[in-house]
Parts: sequence; structure tokens; C-alpha cells
Amino acid sequence: MTNFIKQKALETGFDACGIAKAEALEDDAAFMKSWLEAGMHADMHYLERNFEKRTNPVVLVPETKSVVVVLLNYYTEKEQTGDVPRIARYAHSKIDYHTVIKSMLAKLESAIVEKFGSDIINSSFQHSFVDSAPLLERRWAQRAGLGWMGKHTQLIAPNIGSYCFIGILLLNKELEYDNPIPDRCGTCTRCIDACPTNALNGRSLDARKCISYQTIENKNPVADEITPKLSGCVLGCDICAEVCPWNKKWAKPHQHEQLKPVNEIYSYQKADWQTLSKETFSTIFKNSAIKRAGYEKLKENILMLAPNLRQLTDKL
Ligand code: SF4
Ligand code: SF4
Repeated sequence: MTNFIKQKALETGFDACGIAKAEALEDDAAFMKSWLEAGMHADMHYLERNFEKRTNPVVLVPETKSVVVVLLNYYTEKEQTGDVPRIARYAHSKIDYHTVIKSMLAKLESAIVEKFGSDIINSSFQHSFVDSAPLLERRWAQRAGLGWMGKHTQLIAPNIGSYCFIGILLLNKELEYDNPIPDRCGTCTRCIDACPTNALNGRSLDARKCISYQTIENKNPVADEITPKLSGCVLGCDICAEVCPWNKKWAKPHQHEQLKPVNEIYSYQKADWQTLSKETFSTIFKNSAIKRAGYEKLKENILMLAPNLRQLTDKL
């Protein structure tokens, strides 16, 4: 059963698959509590809710025995160049990655159910997830042997790097479990040193200082103290990932048709971004993850940056 699931995951198009035993994440729960108490989650108050579910998949979906974790590489072949507002790579695809991965997980689930019967899933509950449920996805990926959590708090997967989406499928059957792999950050601190806002401390990320939070999640304008440090980023930030030596070694352009990029991200010049109309935004980013941030937020970020746009490479 374990081999079948892993094989099917790869056939479905995922780049890696690992499996962990479903159990309470006690250490992570304690860590998360202190992180929340320190206010590092900024205004993401939803993280305070469903705490027990978030740290225990058996509470989230009763009868869960196994956590199947899949990765999808999203490293893009093309790059934005020149003096333009930067869009983080995760959002370059025409189709929102949530849509892509949900559909792939549904295919994987169908194959598993067809082979082993429908009692392998708890269909009374949502049991497949991508970035949208109370689950500590990166931690599960680590427990499933798919990588380690770098000091930039992202998963680093051998031969893939950190540019990968994580999907999860909860199953009711016991399977053979993978062993976590060792942390290979060693004494490196490149991500911490490169972060323009000092959002990283080697163990956790302060979302209040993180450009990704400020340019996407923050419903208010980017905080005054962060604005001069945006380093060209207007939607997400890849700086800590760009400098990671493991990404330099392992990140290879994905070949996923479903993640084909929006061409304008590479062809638009600064003036195109600054004069982007709502109509054009709605057309070119119709199905993209960029739409989640919204036109107003993106435009506000672009205009905020306008006086001091500079090349990301200058910073690095
Ligand atoms: S995403 Fe950007 S701002 Fe956030 S921790 Fe990484 S480098 Fe710092
Ligand atoms: S830059 Fe260095 S410290 Fe940061 S995640 Fe990569 S290897 Fe780890």
C-alpha cells in the first residue's frame, strides 16, 4: 500500500512523496504557543484558532493514522530582470497553485480509493489540504522525511530546494513511515544575514517584519518601518530563498504544464506595473494566486515602492 501510494503520487506529477505517522505534534505545539504569545503572527489571528486541530491531525480528522505529504516544485525557468517590482516565484503561474494541487490530490485520492476501497479516507471530513487548513504542513513534510526546516523556516527538500508547494492527504490506514532527515544548515546564516528586515532569528520568523506578510496578508498598508526595506518586492519575497546555497545547488526549473507562468510578469517594465489598471489585472491574473492579494493591495505596494525601486541583485 505504501509503495502504491508513493508511486501514484509521482505518476500524478508530484516531485516527492513521504509518509508520517499521524500523532500530536507536542514540541511544535509548545513552540507555536510561544510564537503566538510573542505576537509574531501579526494580524493572522486565524492561527490562534483551532489550536488543537492545528497540532494534531487526529483531532482535525478523526481516525487518521497516516499523513501523506507531497511536494510540487515551482522553481521558474524565467526570472524578472531589471528595475521592476518583484513578484515572488510561487505566484508566477497562470493557475493558482491551490487549484493545481487540489486537483492533483483529488486524482491521487481517486487512485488510492479505487485500489484499496473508500474506507481508507474519512469522507465525513475534509482530508486533503494545500495551504488552507489548520495543519503545520512544513513540519509534516519534515516528519515524512522530505526535507528539513531551514533557518528561513521553509522546507528544504534534497534535489528540489525550498521552492516547492506542500500538499497533504490524511488516510485511515497505518503505513510504513519515513524517517526525518538531518538538518543540513550547519553554521550557515546567509538567509538571516540577507533578510532586509531582520525577520529571522535562526529558529522562527517574525511575520510582522516579513515582507511576504506585509505585501500579501496585511490588510493595512505595509508598515512604515518596512517600506524603505522592501528591496523591490511587491508581492511576497524570495530573498532568503535566493541566497540559500541549497537552492543554488538543487533548484531546477519545474516542468509542470499546470504551473505555466503569466508572461507579463517577465515582460512588464516598471511603467507597465505602475499604470496597471484593474481591468488588465483581472484579465492577466484571472486564475492566478496574485488575485488573492487583490488589485488594490498590489497597486498600493507598487506605488509605495515607486520612489526607490532598485534591482534585487543590488541588494544581494
Ligand atoms: S521572506 Fe523576505 S522578509 Fe521574510 S524572512 Fe525571508 S527575506 Fe526576510
Ligand atoms: S541560507 Fe543557510 S541557514 Fe538559511 S536555510 Fe539555507 S542553508 Fe540554512
